[in-house]
Amino acid sequence: MRKTTAFVIALAAVAILAAQQQNKQPNPDLGFTDTPILPGLKWHVHDPARPHPPIVTPGATPYAPPSDAIVLFDGKDLSQWAHCASPDCGKIREATWPVKDGYFEVGKNAGDLITREKFGDVQLHIEFSEPPGITGTSQARGNSGVMLMHRYEIQVLDGYKNLTYADGQVGAIYGQWPPLANPSRPPGEWNVYDIVFEAPKFDGEKLVKPAYFTVFLNGVMMHNRKESMGPMVYRHVAHYVPQPAEDSLALQDHHNPVRYRNIWIRRLRQYDEPEK
Ligand code: MG
Repeated sequence: MRKTTAFVIALAAVAILAAQQQNKQPNPDLGFTDTPILPGLKWHVHDPARPHPPIVTPGATPYAPPSDAIVLFDGKDLSQWAHCASPDCGKIREATWPVKDGYFEVGKNAGDLITREKFGDVQLHIEFSEPPGITGTSQARGNSGVMLMHRYEIQVLDGYKNLTYADGQVGAIYGQWPPLANPSRPPGEWNVYDIVFEAPKFDGEKLVKPAYFTVFLNGVMMHNRKESMGPMVYRHVAHYVPQPAEDSLALQDHHNPVRYRNIWIRRLRQYDEPEK
């Protein structure tokens, strides 16, 4: 065999070996396995085996529920809701807040409205309106509340030209943290809340992770993963007490005819880690 031929054969062999080696590596478009492991995780950086996020079809508008949302009110009825019929809400009764024209209104002394289904970590979309002609001042002006787990309140109040204490105004984590801004619309217009809530975690009696709120009102950030001090209390310092991992979302009856519409919720879970 001539030297040139031998050289060409050797080159081809090297090329084939290199190609075979390359074939052992995943398609670089899909990730890498020769990269470091991410701290505290089992995945490589750009790991091709890491599960992909579930496909979610978005709503037709940013306010419409995406495909994996639980629609709690679509303008028709309160079938997803109830009222407590015992102090611990172990017994419930039919919801009686009046529904009309695609919204419902806080009923006269009917008590808080609670979801029949219970939730932990969630993303919540809810719209509210302070009816025109509403009377009262400060905390008596259009007061209601979005109460995650029927405990942790984001204040609903007429925030348009209505002076009250900062940690009780619309958007506040009530009694704890004022919001970062006040983007209230005038009475009669619809305000939009988008809320991410991380439920507190307990190990028996011991709190191992507090609750956190991320809140937007009318597209403006109110809270950026703000730590809650505990369930809402009036004129006291909040503190945690052991509670169930999930509980009802509630809307507060503060005896003012606040209106609500377009309510949907998504359960949140890190899909590529085992459930804790
Ligand atoms: Mg309130």
